[in-house]
Amino acid sequence: MDDCIFCKIIAGELPSNKVYEDDQVLAFKDIHPMAPVHVLVIPKEHIKDMNALTKDNAGIVSHIFTVIPKIAEAQGIGGSGYRVACNCGPDSWGAVDHLHFHLLGGQKLSQTMG
Ligand code: AMP
Ligand code: ZN
Repeated sequence: MDDCIFCKIIAGELPSNKVYEDDQVLAFKDIHPMAPVHVLVIPKEHIKDMNALTKDNAGIVSHIFTVIPKIAEAQGIGGSGYRVACNCGPDSWGAVDHLHFHLLGGQKLSQTMG
């Protein structure tokens, strides 16, 4: 996707603070962290959001959720705990139209989820 900032990060056209990469997934530090650890985990394939997941492309979500605990451990929050969040649509305040999972931790997180 030409106008997608996360696709540009994947392509190396924009910089990122990378913490993990494999053939299907890239993870990098959020530019405006909301917790001491705030990592974005994204599929290399451009998928707009959760509403765009299908039986054919949703396997990446399973892979991402096996990668997240490894990233959490590497970031030092595997044992202290963490939250994974994924925004979808206007009410969620989602801003980037490329599926991504926020990995948050490193402090006692807010008890309010909504
Ligand atoms: P969302 O609001 O769920 O769409 O989350 C988008 C996230 O991407 C926000 O937390 C932004 O701070 C983050 N973000 C936007 N541009 C960049 C960038 N170039 N590098 C790292 N994080 C970014
Ligand atoms: Zn994209």
